Parts: sequence; structure tokens; C-alpha cells
Amino acid sequence: MADLKLKQRIDNIVSRIDNDAVRLIGVTKKKDATIIQEAYEFGLRDFGESYVNEFLTKQKSVSKPDVTWHFIGHLQRNKVTDVIPIAKFIHSVDSIRLVDEIEKNAVLLRLHANVLLEVNISNDPNKHGFSDHELTACLEHLYQCPHIALCGLMTIPKLTNDPSETRNYFKKMRLILEKSVQSHGNLFKAHELSMGMSDDFEIAIEEGATMVRIGTGIFGER
Ligand SMILES: *Cc1c(COP(=O)(O)O)cnc(C)c1O
Repeated sequence: MADLKLKQRIDNIVSRIDNDAVRLIGVTKKKDATIIQEAYEFGLRDFGESYVNEFLTKQKSVSKPDVTWHFIGHLQRNKVTDVIPIAKFIHSVDSIRLVDEIEKNAVLLRLHANVLLEVNISNDPNKHGFSDHELTACLEHLYQCPHIALCGLMTIPKLTNDPSETRNYFKKMRLILEKSVQSHGNLFKAHELSMGMSDDFEIAIEEGATMVRIGTGIFGER
């Protein structure tokens, strides 16, 4: 029961990305695991989930060795132990307390956790993420966390109808990443910028995104 619409949507997004250096992450929150299977048949290999229980259930039912799982939602500290063995990247690390919990569990599980730090670039009180100044403190703190591999930064800017405002947030993110790499270069294992969703991913890519997280644009309304 191939869903042609799904294939068309994936092809459409892939053609608009048009850049091999950008990783397309299909965001499947609130969708069934079957849609992941179908998207896999159509070539998608990266999937992102925002809720831990859904993430664990779907990951179990989609047993494909070459799928890369991304955790992109707010992560509660008591769920860290379940998530870090499965998620290749945790995009949404938003507090030093969470960093400490990840480090502690990574030691126990004998692994290294690949994380991105979430930046609240639009200073939106309703969003998670570090302010500029908290980000610096977190970078300093990461020197004490040898089991955490810092892979870059992530953001969800506040919704706006003004594409130039969105672009400015993405530009700022790139500058913050460059500045962070300059001051704390040896912490970074990679320089990923996870930014851009269905409505703004092309702008994000123009401003340096290396990972885009697309839900609605591929899987339809939630
Ligand atoms: C839901 C979600 C997305 C996808 O948003 P769309 O607008 O549906 O593409 C991307 N990133 C995060 C963190 C999300 O929670």
C-alpha cells in the first residue's frame, strides 16, 4: 500500500534541499510507526521524535539497522537512560542539569552521547533552550563531561510571518556557533546546525543549517 503522496512529498523536500551536506530528518511525532516504514522504503533514513515513550515504541517496531534516530524534544532527566543508547543525536539539550544527567548515564552505560545544545534564539519565554550567556556557562561546564560529544547547536525560533525575522534568527545561530567554535573549539566533535522546519527550511539552509527537521511537509498535518 505504497502511499504515493508520501513519496511525492519526500521527493519534493529532497529536491528543494538540493545539498548533499544537509541531513533531512523526518519528524514523525504523533504518527504511526507504519509511516516510518513507508518513508524508509522511499529512501528516508533519519527520523526524529519528540516524546520519549513514542520514540521508544516506534524504534522497537522499526527494526532497520541503517536508520538514524534523533531525539528532538524536551528531554526529562529521568528518561535519559532510555534515550541515550538509541538516539544517535540528542538535539535538545537545554540545561546544565540535563548535561550532568547525560554524562552520568553515559558513564554507566559505557557510551558517548552525541548532543547538540538548544539555543532559545528568539528569547521566547515559551521555548526551551539556553540564552547566549547560559550557553557560554554550559560550554565551560562540558569540559567536565568527557562522555558527552558536542556536535553542534539547535534552535526552534519563535513563529513569525516575517521571513526576514526568521532569517535573522538563523544568521544569529550561525554566528553563535562560529563564536563557540572559536572559543571552545576542542569541545566540538562536529559543527552541526540543526535548524529549519517545514515552513522555513530553505531559509535555514541558506543560512548554514546542516540538519533540517521536517514533519508536516512530509507526513502531513498532525
Ligand atoms: C514537530 C517538530 C518539528 C517539525 O515541525 P514541522 O513544522 O511539522 O515540520 C521540528 N522540530 C521539532 C523540535 C519539533 O518538535
